[in-house]
Amino acid sequence: MEQIKFLDLQKINALHGPAIKAATERVVDSGWYLQGAENKAFEAEYADYIGTAHAVGCGNGLDALRLILRAYIELGRLRPGDEVIVPANTYIASILAITDCGLVPVLVEPDQQTLQIDAQRVGEAVTPATRAVMIVHLYGRCAYSEQIAEICRRNDLLLIEDNAQAHGCLWHGRRTGSLGDAAGHSFYPGKNLGALGDGGAVTTDDPELAAMVRALANYGSARKYVFDHVGFNSRLDEIQAAVLRVKLPFLDAENRRRKEIAALYEAGITNPKIKLPLPVDSDSNVVHIFPVFAEERDRLQKYLADNGVQTLIHYPIPPHRQQCYRQWAALRFPITEQIHNQELSLPVSPVMTTEEVQRVINLINSWT
Ligand SMILES: *Cc1c(COP(=O)(O)O)cnc(C)c1O
Repeated sequence: MEQIKFLDLQKINALHGPAIKAATERVVDSGWYLQGAENKAFEAEYADYIGTAHAVGCGNGLDALRLILRAYIELGRLRPGDEVIVPANTYIASILAITDCGLVPVLVEPDQQTLQIDAQRVGEAVTPATRAVMIVHLYGRCAYSEQIAEICRRNDLLLIEDNAQAHGCLWHGRRTGSLGDAAGHSFYPGKNLGALGDGGAVTTDDPELAAMVRALANYGSARKYVFDHVGFNSRLDEIQAAVLRVKLPFLDAENRRRKEIAALYEAGITNPKIKLPLPVDSDSNVVHIFPVFAEERDRLQKYLADNGVQTLIHYPIPPHRQQCYRQWAALRFPITEQIHNQELSLPVSPVMTTEEVQRVINLINSWT
């Protein structure tokens, strides 16, 4: 029987094959490869989709977050040494962006049910040095809440969203990426909106921030050969922008298919050794990842692999247990650690067939 891949990027992009080829050919033939018409058009289309006044293309999702924080430093809203609250159970890039800017990450446990940063604990983690909260819409689930927004308002904290995993996700009719002061997006090929290489964007309603991000991403220059800030180079190239323009109009339909697959898993998986996540709420979850939890996670993963089903773990080692942050080795985050010990991500993608989903369900239900 054919292997069920975790994510079949070849099939996903083949859905748009002729349009992607026409778009890339258009860029190749134009003779213009950076900061041109495609980037400009994508920025307008993406800002419109997310519902913000501005979108600025950049090199990748990590850079999007770094650019936001660096821009706030340049604008005097953040200073090196300021504390930024961030979930302990995130992909390391959220935290790398913070330390890269000389800011201090304060790790906060998730809620055991939602798997998202625990608003109550966010409130408790605020100190006089806190200047920002970075929420991460992990697994494609909305992490924003009125409670977190209120904590930010009350303490005059910036609210930054890491929207790398949640393109298209809604909170009461508004898109994630438009809920805080600024948001970083990744178009890494495996994300719900993926390019054919690296890509990212910053969205915000703040024109000053957008202009600063744009300048910093272009060597700190807003005018050619005039450098007002110590910037770097992080731009979305024309080919990636053209590809993203092809795929963006299909994002909502592809997310709907992901939700159908999640609903099949939820209804179908009955093995008591498997713990399912909170059910998919139709709007506030775009199912970037479908996580299940098992005490014998590694044995389950091997069993599925032996039976032709590829799974991944998001993520095997939490950030505070990584060598790069060995200064945190003594910190204890029991919920985060339990998630990392028990989590297994089942295959989900817009090209997965119902028969394939059923095969995964049957395998899991007959696991002993
Ligand atoms: C993928 C990801 C990033 C980084 O995006 P890149 O484009 O790979 O740099 C940041 N945060 C989260 C939560 C991610 O999943």
